[in-house]
Amino acid sequence: MKRVGAHVSIKGGVENAPLNAQAIGARAFAMFTKNQRQWQAKPLTEESIAAFRANLNAVDIAPEHVLPHDSYLINLGHPEAESLKKSREAFIDEMRRCEQLGLKLLNFHPGSHLRKISEDDCLMRVAESINLALQQTKDVTAVIETTAGQGSNVGYRFEHLASIIEQVDDKQRVGACIDTCHIFVAGYDLRTTAACEKTFGEFGAVVGFQYLRGMHLNDSKPDLGARVDRHQSLGLGKIGWEAFRYIMHDNRFDEIPMVLETIDETLWPEEIRSLYQL
Ligand SMILES: [Zn+2]
Ligand SMILES: [Zn+2]
Repeated sequence: MKRVGAHVSIKGGVENAPLNAQAIGARAFAMFTKNQRQWQAKPLTEESIAAFRANLNAVDIAPEHVLPHDSYLINLGHPEAESLKKSREAFIDEMRRCEQLGLKLLNFHPGSHLRKISEDDCLMRVAESINLALQQTKDVTAVIETTAGQGSNVGYRFEHLASIIEQVDDKQRVGACIDTCHIFVAGYDLRTTAACEKTFGEFGAVVGFQYLRGMHLNDSKPDLGARVDRHQSLGLGKIGWEAFRYIMHDNRFDEIPMVLETIDETLWPEEIRSLYQL
């Protein structure tokens, strides 16, 4: 079964996320576990945790189908010791918040070398950061997202994800999330069935579908290979519906959260319905 949803708001408390997901007809969702623009966050309260768990249960979405996203401030491959430490501490805090909520995944962008270290050194730091986080937590899987390759971000080649995963000790708790917009602007074509066949075949060969733990379903404003991260509503960008039809008909994408991060949230109910109808 396919599990489609969107990145929903936590306004008023994390416990509102499951209800926001239900309201748009979602069978999966993504969320932040805190304000994503601040380093410090108040701990989740007992009431909030209990309400989140109760609401998730009430809307009948399994914890495995929730894909929390970490703060955009975190850079697990930071070239400088002090900032790397800050990022690692914040990431572990986010993993603990997921554990408190009973969630199983934490999705994040691998990191940026800021033109101060090589890509390989950056990938090594990301892997070390994941190892440290996994040692200090129990149940949450670190889910590395493919990136658009904008600026000095790593993660725009499947080989980058494979390299990180290879250096992570606990292979059971590391995974990948494919963002369709990101891989497209990074140079992986998705516009035809043949292109999808080739791109996802490459993902299978380089990373492996056993590591695929989530998808971000976005169309793209920029063209193939532009290396610029600008999402678009499904069917209105340079990717087009064919890619999403391909994904919805392929059982390699069953039972993982597939979430929209498209730009017009008023279209989400319609986009979710359209995906299920493909
Ligand atoms: Zn994404
Ligand atoms: Zn993006």
